[in-house]
Amino acid sequence: MSKVILFFKNLFNKQVSVDSSISNAPVTIPRSEHSISRKQVSHNALKVLYRLHDAGFSAYLVGGCVRDLLLGREPKDFDVVTNAKPEEVHQLFRSALLIGRRFRLVHVRFSGEIIEVATFRQGGFVQDEDEHRNEHGMLVRDNQYGTLNDDVIRRDFTVNSLYYNIADFSVVDFMGGMQDLQAGVLRIIGDPLTRFREDPVRILRAIRFAAKLSFSIEPATAAAIPQTAGLLAHVSPARLFDEVIKLLSGGYGQETFALLRHQNLLKYLFPLTEAVLQEPTMHHEVDRFLMLMLRNTDERIAQDKGVNPAFMFAAMLWHPRQKLALQLLEDGLVPVVAHEQAGNQVINQQVKHIAIPRRFTNTAREIWQMQFQLEKRKPHRAIALVYMHRFRAGYDFLLLRAEVEPHLTEIATWWTAFHDADDETRQEMVKALMKPKKRRRRSKGKKTSQSADVVQSAPE
Ligand code: ATP
Ligand code: MG
Repeated sequence: MSKVILFFKNLFNKQVSVDSSISNAPVTIPRSEHSISRKQVSHNALKVLYRLHDAGFSAYLVGGCVRDLLLGREPKDFDVVTNAKPEEVHQLFRSALLIGRRFRLVHVRFSGEIIEVATFRQGGFVQDEDEHRNEHGMLVRDNQYGTLNDDVIRRDFTVNSLYYNIADFSVVDFMGGMQDLQAGVLRIIGDPLTRFREDPVRILRAIRFAAKLSFSIEPATAAAIPQTAGLLAHVSPARLFDEVIKLLSGGYGQETFALLRHQNLLKYLFPLTEAVLQEPTMHHEVDRFLMLMLRNTDERIAQDKGVNPAFMFAAMLWHPRQKLALQLLEDGLVPVVAHEQAGNQVINQQVKHIAIPRRFTNTAREIWQMQFQLEKRKPHRAIALVYMHRFRAGYDFLLLRAEVEPHLTEIATWWTAFHDADDETRQEMVKALMKPKKRRRRSKGKKTSQSADVVQSAPE
């Protein structure tokens, strides 16, 4: 939590001492005056750059990789931009694949790495408004080839518009990106309202980069966010899914989530989660639960461990599901039906906003259903449960819940011991479970056996 508070302090106390006038005259920063060394660039990306250059084309690294290299961070991937047309790039590389419908790109494939090569495009400020924009001002076409100058202004933020030129190893800066990088400022290129209207996903990208880089959002850029955020409702759920994955599993989930909430943007991505966070009786528990989930996720990513998006979605929607289940119980539904229906309804609502693939929603359902079984600890099921496909995810979810629901601590501790125990000890633990359980209320036992049976049935 303190990390998040510190992040906000940095964000709002930062002295922004950058000249806000944006120049379009390119500044070339020679190799001797910047820190990018070819040693830090992927071998494959260099191969692509050199081959394009040797064939007489211009070739640059651009975007996040240049930004990250200048910041001393390891880039996620290397993007190349060139004046060669996709077909020309394709001819130069045997392993190249032409992709994309909206705009054509080339993927040059190496073992374990893909280098994306794009042709200079225009599209930031196109002349013919009607042809390229829909009624909301959103860009629907930006597939025209252009020059390096055109390519610069279609990019989102100044710090993402720096080009590393393979011809002389210089960095080319048209938009004052170097200055902004040094000052830790995220500034949109051009008029903020227009640029966010053109593509509202840039709002989410601003949040993601501000969180990841601990940058402040330049005031005019920040001011345009609330004015254009409503347009996120018009972005396709498939694109929002891609962006949500980057937001939550980019390694800075806690800061990103806090910033999304602070900017009142969560409602466009997870409206049901935002609704429970707004409820005074639930706010504290939900907030802690989600922050813990994101902390675990961030830690796993820092340790190069995989993260399961289904687990994150299960957590994001857990409290909305619980709340709805409670209402359905009050309406008279039996617990097992109430919980199952609540899960289905919450997922059906959610996928209208974010197109979460079925494989993830199904796993989320399994994780939820397993909570019943883990909580009940039915003696004759316990051993089989440990060997179930989703045990680990369900168990991790129970541990997370136990952090905010103290009544689950004892059960969670028992499952940890049971999971770690050898077969003999497990048998003893199961036996020990039988006796006190039998002495408990029998009528309740009947109800739970029903729920456990249905819960075990495989989700569709
Ligand atoms: P990272 O890969 O570290 O998440 P990135 O800046 O490389 O960050 P990408 O999504 O890989 O982000 O995009 C590469 C570059 O393409 C960006 O740096 C930016 O210049 C440009 N870009 C990407 N998406 C947009 C957009 N929606 N609007 C304008 N420019 C964009
Ligand atoms: Mg990138």
